[in-house]
Amino acid sequence: MDDQDKKQGKATLAARAGGYTDAGSGGVVPPMQPSTTFIRDENYDPLFADNIYGRDQNDQVRLAESILSQLEGAEESLLFASGMAALSSLFSSLKRGQKLIVQSGIYWGTTAWVREFCTHREVLLIEADSSDEVAFSELVKQENPDMVFLEVPSNPWILTSDIEVISQTAKSVGAVLAVDATAATPILMQPISLGADIVMHSATKAINGHSDVLAGVLSCANASSDVWIYVKRERHGAGAILSAQSAWMLIRGMRTLPLRMERMCANAMAIAQFLEGHEKVEAIWYPGLASHQGHAIAARQMPRGYGYLLSFLIKGTRKDALDFCRHLTGIHRATSLGGVESLVEHRHTIEGDVTGCPENLIRLSVGIENVADLIGEISTALSCLE
Ligand SMILES: *Cc1c(COP(=O)(O)O)cnc(C)c1O
Repeated sequence: MDDQDKKQGKATLAARAGGYTDAGSGGVVPPMQPSTTFIRDENYDPLFADNIYGRDQNDQVRLAESILSQLEGAEESLLFASGMAALSSLFSSLKRGQKLIVQSGIYWGTTAWVREFCTHREVLLIEADSSDEVAFSELVKQENPDMVFLEVPSNPWILTSDIEVISQTAKSVGAVLAVDATAATPILMQPISLGADIVMHSATKAINGHSDVLAGVLSCANASSDVWIYVKRERHGAGAILSAQSAWMLIRGMRTLPLRMERMCANAMAIAQFLEGHEKVEAIWYPGLASHQGHAIAARQMPRGYGYLLSFLIKGTRKDALDFCRHLTGIHRATSLGGVESLVEHRHTIEGDVTGCPENLIRLSVGIENVADLIGEISTALSCLE
């Protein structure tokens, strides 16, 4: 199968909600079943063996997980109430005294949470840049960690780490390799096929794509691995499952995921090309640009598109960066990413100094609007700067 066939496969799978039809009604859309509990018969056997109580079992959650597993090439997937709930379950598998290497300069919420968690749990935490896979692999060999955590592409620096190379090193020391691939989605990159053990997404972002559902997902390469068995027990015990209503919305959102990604990647590429070399732009990070330090790796890992996120530095100060945001007339000034509507962020306002974000950094999450409108608006806002 060439890439085109695989892409059509995913678009078909998503559009048909994993091939679901409702035998009860003939509906082409799955029904919404919000029940938190399920009936047992006279012998006290469950009417449906898989349905006992909503903290574990729910038809919409199962269907959404099955669609995600198919898109991801995973053995199993588990949905959580948010991306952070998914990460919390994953990191909770680490015991006191174990060692975790986390990529530095990633989503600040993960960074802040994991630092506190490791201090509290007495897990040894090392943060290191992973965009140089040789240096990073050396560190992994030297430190012999229990888990390695990457974010690819990273946020807000949009750096690309070589998952294949790092996964081999992680395997050689027996570490679990987990990858947050939120900025790629399973449409653009499949970390499991590159050697990752666990893939995580904030499904709040492009997987749902409409800025109206909070959700997180973990998918695994091997459902009988220790880490997966732990994560499953943890979601059940700690009650971090996604709600039935949110799962139903997510299934609806995912139907257009491959289509949205096509448009978002094309728009982001055009905007990146417009910004590169613009007189008011000091630097830009988008993996699709040949000038991006991780371009060659991204071209290998994300052959269908380079994603919908890009960051750039405004030539000037914090005030200039905020002025740029102020002069945008339609792109919303709001945190988050991956929705059909483009969003602009002055990251330093949001995260402060947690990961060393410069005060003139702007991050764009590019949506599905007409690209000429987006570029026109960005161009006007840049020309308003002195
Ligand atoms: C948003 C985000 C998260 C956290 O997900 P929530 O759904 O907001 O809990 C984790 N990683 C990345 C890369 C994100 O963008």
